[in-house]
Amino acid sequence: MSRSVYLDHSATTPVDHDVLEAMMPYFTSDFGNPNSLHAWGRKARKALDEARNQVAQLINADPTEVIFTGGGSEADNLAIKGIAYARKDRGHHIITSAIEHHAVLDACKWLGKEGFDITILPVDKYGMVRLDELERAIRPDTILVTIQFANNEIGTIEPIEQIGSICRKQGVLFHTDAVQATGHLPIDVKKLPIDLMTMAAHKMYGPKGVGALYVKKGVKIAPLIHGGGQERGLRSGTENTAGIVGFGKAAVLAAKRLANNENENEKRLRDRLIDGILERIDDVILTGHRTERLPFHTSFCFHYIEGESMLLRLDALGIGASSGSACTSGSLEPSHVLLAIGLPHEIAHGSLRLTLGKDTSDEDIDYVLENLPKVVESLRAMSPLGKRG
Ligand SMILES: *Cc1c(COP(=O)(O)O)cnc(C)c1O
Repeated sequence: MSRSVYLDHSATTPVDHDVLEAMMPYFTSDFGNPNSLHAWGRKARKALDEARNQVAQLINADPTEVIFTGGGSEADNLAIKGIAYARKDRGHHIITSAIEHHAVLDACKWLGKEGFDITILPVDKYGMVRLDELERAIRPDTILVTIQFANNEIGTIEPIEQIGSICRKQGVLFHTDAVQATGHLPIDVKKLPIDLMTMAAHKMYGPKGVGALYVKKGVKIAPLIHGGGQERGLRSGTENTAGIVGFGKAAVLAAKRLANNENENEKRLRDRLIDGILERIDDVILTGHRTERLPFHTSFCFHYIEGESMLLRLDALGIGASSGSACTSGSLEPSHVLLAIGLPHEIAHGSLRLTLGKDTSDEDIDYVLENLPKVVESLRAMSPLGKRG
């Protein structure tokens, strides 16, 4: 009997039913441009203001500190290039880590070509940024440190409080890409030493193409998109009202789940899946940290086989998984994250990521634990990569 088990929530999540319902009027009856002064415009503006409050509340920010963008990648670019352009008179040095999302790494590399000096910090075997390396890397001309809150490929949660404290002590701004963490871990930007933080709605049951950048009061950034001056001049363009309303609703629902400790159940299922796979299958390693890990995230490397072939077999069984990140799969190079945690190429090629969602059930986990060992065994039996049977 085949089921349909989506376990790729790190790539994207479905839009929650209540989120969709909240969005719908802003496509039709309440379609006004929020910048218009008439009743239609005012109604849309009111909805935008409320959504800004809702997203701000999720992370304990002030609403004026939330800039809506067209997604996580855009917010990362706005943070990094925005700080680089605004602070280039103070210095040209930016620090990041080897396991960032490409939206961060490639924005930094782009700035590298424009004359900025980029330091890419190594990580340990769990994907943790080494704090002593960070301290050593900071220089008088360092203007920004950008290190993710939690990794999308291996689930590791970085020591954000310590990283931020080191930056504060040195007077360097700290940006964190929190796309995987927002709505899934409690985040309080008043308690954590964070200056800029990236969020994306579609990784937390909101719509795609909507994100936000938290910019701490007093932090000056330059815009990337010039025009009508929306979003305090930092992101011009008529606002995506429906999408932003959806993000707001998703934030409210996420806050509720966090308050109800619903991620404890997600964690229990995560651990069932991790333990079940490690028990049932030989020559497999868990990638990332065992406990400092996103509550919905599991990732592995299976020896002797290719992640891609596992993924196709699982797909045929109705299981949606991924190998490495969605952006890197399809290329022959193994993921930069798996190489950075020290895995050799041949092992990194056997990577499989299974990321749970709020509606994942025990039966879903049973189904994977029943079928994955068979898939692995069958692929290994015909593997040219070494061990057979
Ligand atoms: C998904 C993701 C992004 C990109 O967000 P988009 O909204 O898809 O542009 C950035 N960083 C991380 C860690 C992500 O997981």
